[in-house]
Parts: sequence; structure tokens; C-alpha cells
Amino acid sequence: MTQPLIQRLCIIGVGLIGGSLARALREAGEVGEVIGCGRGEDNLRAAVRLGVIDRYETDPACAVCAADVVVVAVPLGAMAAVLRSIVPHLAAGAILTDVGSAKGSVVADIERIYGQIPPHFVPGHPIAGTEQSGVEASFATLFQRRRVILTPLAETAAAAHQLIRRMWELTGAEVVDMGVRHHDAVLAATSHLPHMLAYTLVDTLARLDDRAEVFRYAAGGFRDFTRIASSDPVMWHDICVANREQLLEMIALFSADLAQLAEAIRSDDRAAILATFQRAKRARDNLYLD
Ligand code: NAP
Repeated sequence: MTQPLIQRLCIIGVGLIGGSLARALREAGEVGEVIGCGRGEDNLRAAVRLGVIDRYETDPACAVCAADVVVVAVPLGAMAAVLRSIVPHLAAGAILTDVGSAKGSVVADIERIYGQIPPHFVPGHPIAGTEQSGVEASFATLFQRRRVILTPLAETAAAAHQLIRRMWELTGAEVVDMGVRHHDAVLAATSHLPHMLAYTLVDTLARLDDRAEVFRYAAGGFRDFTRIASSDPVMWHDICVANREQLLEMIALFSADLAQLAEAIRSDDRAAILATFQRAKRARDNLYLD
């Protein structure tokens, strides 16, 4: 019988992403034992019951000690503390990766902890998710036909990079490599800014005096546009803090364009209004040709 790709996998933070990764690798038959780790035993017990992990440890040092791959899948704000608690206990030859939605902050955390970038660290980010959290929301097909971005550094060992690439490919994802800063700029535009817009829109409307009336007449478009405002607030708070600079640049750009549209509406510049919508429709239609 051939050996699975990973003999012993440790997932720190068995939530939507960590749980879905464990499920997908199990379905692929490419993992031996899966050990979970987190703060609360309720979630970890549920993970065992659901067959996502084989067993759990609440002490991160014990959880990682004999693992050949360690995946850190906690919110970005918890990343530094978790990494600090596991790094001294990693097995020789273990590969460390993460799934954080911003990469610059995690790379900076790692550099602070090690004093340099270690060769066995491979930063990663699956571009897949739902607005749900926790292991109960995890499912094996979450990453199928989705992209996973790896942001290996000059110091990253080729073997570690290859193994994490293979791990994600086994989940059905397409894996691409990107620079850390480029990743954070692209994600600020395509994911982080849209979440800011959805949260702010719902918050603004929810504070109107006649909000009940407003929401009663909200149609499908409103539902589609605001679905992501049901995402976990702590996770998104952490993403804002972690990707502050790049996100602020996108918010400034968007605010300027929105102000320009407001000015076109105020001054009854119908050509400008129509041109904006035509440009946007063309771009949106071309985005999803397949
Ligand atoms: P999640 O479902 O809430 O899972 C996170 C897990 O981390 C929880 O099960 C929790 O387990 C543990 N955790 C939370 N706070 C912690 C802390 N302070 N210290 C230690 N462990 C903690 O979240 P998720 O959606 O899987 O997100 C996890 C990571 O993936 C985040 O870094 C996020 O940026 C990234 N990501 C998310 C998405 C998405 O769409 N959701 C997509 C791509 C990447 P315990 O309660 O047992 O501690």
C-alpha cells in the first residue's frame, strides 16, 4: 500500500477552513492521523464526532510535537500567539503553513518569532469560504475548483513548497504562487474592500429610523450584495488590522469614485452616470464569461 502524502497532520483552529482541509485530505486518502487543537473543547469534541479529526489536544505544544505538517487556521489576530506557542515544539523536518487571509502580517509574525524566515514555512491562503464559521460548517468540497494562493519566500525550501502545493491540489484546488505584497494588494481589492462595503451598507441601513420598512422591501439583489456581511466580525476585524495599508488605499480609491458618482447625480450629469454604469456592466459581464 502506498503511504499517504501526510502521515500526521496537525490543524490548529479546526473551523471552517481547517476543518474543510482535514475533510478533503481524508476523502482523498492522503492523510494518516489528524490531530486538532483549539481553545474550546466543545468545538474539538464536535470535530471528533464529525470524523474531521482523530483526536485533539488543547495544549498546542503537545498537538504539534510529532506532526509532519502543521496548518495554522486561526483568525489573523491570534496568529502570532499561536505561532509563538508551537514553534519551539515542532518536530525536526516538520512543515509549517497557514491559511490567513492576509500574508504580510503572518510573514512578519514568523520573522519576529524566528529572527528570520525559516525554510520549512510556506504561507498560504485558500480563496474559498462561506459566511459560516466553526467545524460544523466545514465540508470536504469547499476548495474544489477554487484557487489557493501560496506566497513562498526566497528562504522557503523547494521540498516544503512542493508538499504544501500537493496538499492543496489534493483538495481539488488550483494552486498559484504570488508575492506577499501583491497578494495583499489583490485581496484588498477583490475581497477585503467588498466586505467593508457590505458591512457598512447593512450597518447604515440598520440604523435608519424606518429600517423595518427598508428591509421589508429588500429584494434578491440586496440579499446577494450583503450576504458577506454575515461573516464572522472578529475574523474581519483582524483582516482590516492585518492589511491596513492596502485596504486604506482601496477604500480611498473607491470613496473618490463614489464621490464622483454622487457629484454626477447632484449636477444631473446623465452622460457621466450612464458611462459609469456601462463601463461597470462591460467589466462585470466579461469577468464571468464561463
Ligand atoms: P473559524 O471557522 O472561526 O475557525 C477558526 C478556528 O480557530 C476556530 O475553530 C477556533 O477554535 C480557533 N480560534 C479562534 N480564535 C482563536 C484564538 N484566539 N486562539 C486560538 N484559536 C482560535 O474561521 P475560518 O473561517 O476557518 O478562518 C480561519 C482562518 O482562515 C483565518 O485566518 C481567516 O482569515 C482564514 N480564511 C478564512 C476564509 C473564510 O472565508 N472564512 C477564507 C480563507 C481564509 P476554538 O474556538 O476551538 O479555539
